[in-house]
Amino acid sequence: MRLARLIPVLLASGLVLLATAILLSALPANATERDRGSTDNGYQYTDHPSRVSTGRVVALYVDRDFGDSERQRIVSAMRQWNYALNGAVRFTARLLPEDPSFSEIAQIKRSGGWIVAKVDSSHPITQRGEGRHALAVTVGGSGGGFVYVIGDRIGRRDLTGVVMHEFGHVLGAGHDGYGLMAPVYNPNAGHCIDRDAAALVANAQHLQLSQMNWCEPTSDYRSPMASRR
Ligand SMILES: [Zn+2]
Repeated sequence: MRLARLIPVLLASGLVLLATAILLSALPANATERDRGSTDNGYQYTDHPSRVSTGRVVALYVDRDFGDSERQRIVSAMRQWNYALNGAVRFTARLLPEDPSFSEIAQIKRSGGWIVAKVDSSHPITQRGEGRHALAVTVGGSGGGFVYVIGDRIGRRDLTGVVMHEFGHVLGAGHDGYGLMAPVYNPNAGHCIDRDAAALVANAQHLQLSQMNWCEPTSDYRSPMASRR
């Protein structure tokens, strides 16, 4: 897509209020670790009563360059956040127009929307700062922005988890030592929205943590997190 040429314009307009990323792990994971970390059976979400909606919506515009399975993973990340947010704030998603013009991008920006863009490691966002070692980079602030997914660096990593981490930044969360919002990708963690991630977003969005949902290890699953909870 042609987003690359728009970056200097957007940077000049003062878009960059937040630039953060999830970094590549320094060590490759072996298959056993990946299998253990990527299981859907290792955790379950809480089921707290949903609250009345505030009507706050975060609109996502998903690049058409993502394939079907990638789109499904992005939607899964969005749905898990919507479940965690429990009605207080809600993500919506639609496809970005094909080859968007600057005026279409500007319109999305004016409305506070976020563009989920698929780029590769030749993109300017990957050439500086954290972007040089990142799987994905979020650039923006309260007025919307970009989530760049660096497609050729994802490989067999958990795209849902990577995007869910970035959506945490979209919601105002910073980094945390372990779990979803850890700054470095870990194949054994970060596959669901844990309590620490929910707490970071609750703080940023001025929500009550007790009214959100988060994932917890199931009773038959022992992880390093169990002793911290
Ligand atoms: Zn990050």
